[in-house]
Amino acid sequence: MCGIVGYIGKKPALPILVSSLRRLEYRGYDSFGFFVLNRDSHFLLKKVGKISEWEEKLLKVSCQGNLGISHTRWATTGEVNEQNAHPHFDCNKEIFLVHNGIVENHQQLREKLIGEGHKFSSETDTEVFCHLIEKYFQGNLEEAVREALKEIKGNYAIAVISRKDPNKIVLATFGAPLLVGLSDGEYFIASDPAAIISYTRQVISLDDNEIAVVTPQNHFILKEKPIEQIDWEIKEAQKEGFSHFMLKEIFESPAVIQEAIRGRMDIERGLAVLGGLDQAWERLEKIERLIITGCGTARYAGMVGEYMLEEYAKIPTEVEVASEFRYRKPLLDEKTALLAISQSGETADTLEAVREAKRKGTLTLGLVNRVGSSIARETDAGVYNRAGLEIGVAATKSFVSQLTILALLTVSLGRKKDMSLVIGKRILEELSKLPQLAKRVLEQADYIKELAQKYSEYKNFIYLGRKYNYPIALEGALKLKEIAWKVHAEGVCGGEIKHGPIALLDEDFPVVCIAPSDSVYEKMRNAIEEVKSRNGKILAVATENNEEIKKLVDDVIYIPKTLEMLTPILSVIPLHLFAAYLGLELGLDIDKPRNLAKSVTVE
Ligand code: GLU
Repeated sequence: MCGIVGYIGKKPALPILVSSLRRLEYRGYDSFGFFVLNRDSHFLLKKVGKISEWEEKLLKVSCQGNLGISHTRWATTGEVNEQNAHPHFDCNKEIFLVHNGIVENHQQLREKLIGEGHKFSSETDTEVFCHLIEKYFQGNLEEAVREALKEIKGNYAIAVISRKDPNKIVLATFGAPLLVGLSDGEYFIASDPAAIISYTRQVISLDDNEIAVVTPQNHFILKEKPIEQIDWEIKEAQKEGFSHFMLKEIFESPAVIQEAIRGRMDIERGLAVLGGLDQAWERLEKIERLIITGCGTARYAGMVGEYMLEEYAKIPTEVEVASEFRYRKPLLDEKTALLAISQSGETADTLEAVREAKRKGTLTLGLVNRVGSSIARETDAGVYNRAGLEIGVAATKSFVSQLTILALLTVSLGRKKDMSLVIGKRILEELSKLPQLAKRVLEQADYIKELAQKYSEYKNFIYLGRKYNYPIALEGALKLKEIAWKVHAEGVCGGEIKHGPIALLDEDFPVVCIAPSDSVYEKMRNAIEEVKSRNGKILAVATENNEEIKKLVDDVIYIPKTLEMLTPILSVIPLHLFAAYLGLELGLDIDKPRNLAKSVTVE
């Protein structure tokens, strides 16, 4: 959920841990902590708040130890305070441990360990690891970890150091990512490659149930593992002149569309070429139903996909909230495929949905950004976003990329069914124009900023959209409440406003209407008129040259004309910008919104 970083080598560990952990701050950031082992002493610091505020002080600490672990916490169990921040330790402060994930049976384990005489110093689930390892420790740390893990139920990535078996870090994972970065005579440990790409690009990802032991000279994992190469540029982890990652990433929308379609379109033959699906084609051609699953923004992308796939590929498609999927006892068979969408590829709810589908013999596909992530590894086939590192907690460019790839998937599957060459070609031609059109939308950034200032006095918003832009209403509202969290926003389907939400409307309750000139424009205009007659303020997103709408609404943001199924890719960009600027206007940190974390690796 949050982040783990570790170091073992010849250099002082603390400065390396501080700079690497800062890069992980985006994953979760209510508190943080460091443990560094010196020859005969140790350094332990735990704090609530942001590492950035402590960075200078930490870099001045004189601490020579060259082995250490650190953590940014996104609390799941136990409130946010210094005691509950990681690293946690055993009764005698000999074993120190950081953990991402949740221990589901922590209450029973805690009671049992207390009964055996152990003294707890935090309220977290994590601390049970420390006391279990203490209980089983007989001189060899990895042996004790192995025994302790037999009692744990839940998911975890842990890094452990013991003062009684020094010169090593022991790692273990189950359902949470952890990787070892290799360099000359030193090792970097991280839950996310973003933390360590400035030190090394050669990494080994741990699989579930693996225990790794890393010493300054060597690493030992139970089975031989391939070394992967991380190909992100360091600049991707920097702001490059933007004040915030979120803004930088929204401005990357044209580039991510370009990357998503690069080499994947044969326009002449009206074909989309998604190589990652090759090995699944035989099964994919036989499917009669598709279930798309994801959480938050990824699910909304799936909802747009549902409209695209049913209209153009004629495949019955449903979208499921990933966290409900496996508890709902879904009816699955070999004629169904599950498509899991997740930027990080580590979203625990989505991963569990994949596992449930696999257990039932269903073909599983992934649409993920993070190469080599759990969902990428566990699905039968899939497509990568190639959207680069996304650091802003709120997904923006990854959403745009997901929509683009869903359009490619629609062509790819549709052309195998009865989509004509003409339609296939037309969709691909329009897709190829989108990067330029997205740039044109972004040229209005200053105007959108002014609108955000103007609307920042309101406390509640409704977003309205229909058909392809209904999920965009949901996404626009989600982004606003995530980023500008002092404001409340809800997305409603245009036809539903009169069935309830209209009761809320008055001059203090603005409505954002996504009303491009498409097959449901007339219906959206009805909704706009219904709102207007209740004195509601309206900000519309409309297609260029629609002059009429200016008379109906208070403000308009124009987007260029494209195919109806592709309008969401353009209409969402101003909504992302609007949320970002409104958050800034309210004085909020838009890269790290309150209570949220980037990749949610707990269920
Ligand atoms: N469950 C642990 C806690 O609440 C770890 C949470 C995390 O992954 O940050 O401290």
